[in-house]
Amino acid sequence: MSFKSKVVIVTGSSAGIGAAIAIAFSREGADVVITGRNRERLEKVAEECKVHQSPLVIRADLTNDRDVEEIVKKTIEKHGKIDILVNNAGIVQLSSLVDDTFIKAFDQVAQINLRAVIKMTNSVTPHIIATKGNIINISSVSGRQLYAYQYTVYGMLKASLDYFTQGAALELGKYGVRVNAVSPGPVETDIKPDSNPEYKRPTFPTVLQRYSTAEEIGDVVLFLASDKANGITGSNYTVDNGYLLVKS
Ligand code: NDP
Repeated sequence: MSFKSKVVIVTGSSAGIGAAIAIAFSREGADVVITGRNRERLEKVAEECKVHQSPLVIRADLTNDRDVEEIVKKTIEKHGKIDILVNNAGIVQLSSLVDDTFIKAFDQVAQINLRAVIKMTNSVTPHIIATKGNIINISSVSGRQLYAYQYTVYGMLKASLDYFTQGAALELGKYGVRVNAVSPGPVETDIKPDSNPEYKRPTFPTVLQRYSTAEEIGDVVLFLASDKANGITGSNYTVDNGYLLVKS
């Protein structure tokens, strides 16, 4: 699957799933833009991309609209176009309705998991229309089935993201732009709620009795971003090792 001469922005590519997606696109010859807040981790991922193709590295906080606009501006300055956007950056916060954590978690998680996706999508739209490119949003099985009440904020925002994916696909389709989502089940990454350093990730049940690697999520993203998926828009691809079957 060659992405030679394709310009790809991957948000949250300083770690985990985003890093794996960025490295996979680089391996296939794409001009990748990697972005996150942590300079050290960004440099580490840049080194891994460089083995194949040098990435453009942009340090940015996606909760800041000006930073989002800078990502788009710098990408256009360097490459003159944008073909693919992967909205991957995301956080988790656990919360409860019997104390004051719910509203705090909602404000924090909504900023990055939903508002930043909308702002980023909005900012790239003219450029993606110009290239008839495509957008992939990294959602979660949590948007379809709640694991536990502490994950309500995370799950409801992923459900909203799924609606946003459909709405964007519906609106941008007439310009030849495809918009899809990938919903992973549990994946081996360092994701954890910032507010709780003691947090131990639960063991999530799966039919296949395994978790996916970040690279496996990358494989599905590359497929959806490629010409092999020309007929796919508004879809939400589940990669959960059968987690939803066990939970239902
Ligand atoms: P990680 O915690 O490993 O990575 C999160 C990435 O998001 C980092 O690169 C981080 O960069 C970036 N990020 C977070 N906040 C901001 C911000 N304010 N501005 C810019 N970048 C930010 O998470 P995962 O790789 O596990 O998760 C990636 C996506 O996959 C998320 O959307 C998550 O919801 C989803 N997902 C993950 C699952 C899992 O089991 N891991 C399961 C289902 C879905 P930095 O810290 O440098 O800013």
